[in-house]
Amino acid sequence: MEEFLSSLITPEVQLAIMAVVVIIAVFYLISILWVVRDAYLRGANPVIWGIVSLIPFIGAFFYSMMRPPMLLADKDEQNLDFALKQRQLMHYGECGKCGYPVEREYLVCPRCSTQLKNECRKCGHALNPEWHVCPSCCTPVG
Ligand SMILES: [Zn+2]
Ligand SMILES: [Zn+2]
Repeated sequence: MEEFLSSLITPEVQLAIMAVVVIIAVFYLISILWVVRDAYLRGANPVIWGIVSLIPFIGAFFYSMMRPPMLLADKDEQNLDFALKQRQLMHYGECGKCGYPVEREYLVCPRCSTQLKNECRKCGHALNPEWHVCPSCCTPVG
């Protein structure tokens, strides 16, 4: 039996086993690096997740299940998008009657034709109801 085994494990087989072990070890190291880097990018604690990932493969698998869903860069971009939309909203208003978004310069709502602002007699600039003078041509609002 021993003779049979030793005849089976030839130098070639030993080499093949070594190669498989090296490949697995490399994958293991890559999985640790990936977890640490990914945790860092996603704003998770890279040290804690690095320790978790030391459990061969199970740690990395566990991390991939538990990791924060969004990259920090994506999150920043989303916040920026949100701020931009809010600022845009400030530039616009909405029709008091139907809620349609309207620009500052609109005199009437394009959807329900409600009068939104007065028009300057001289230059046609849109005037807020509380203004006493046209900011564009200095004509007093009658
Ligand atoms: Zn309207
Ligand atoms: Zn005017």
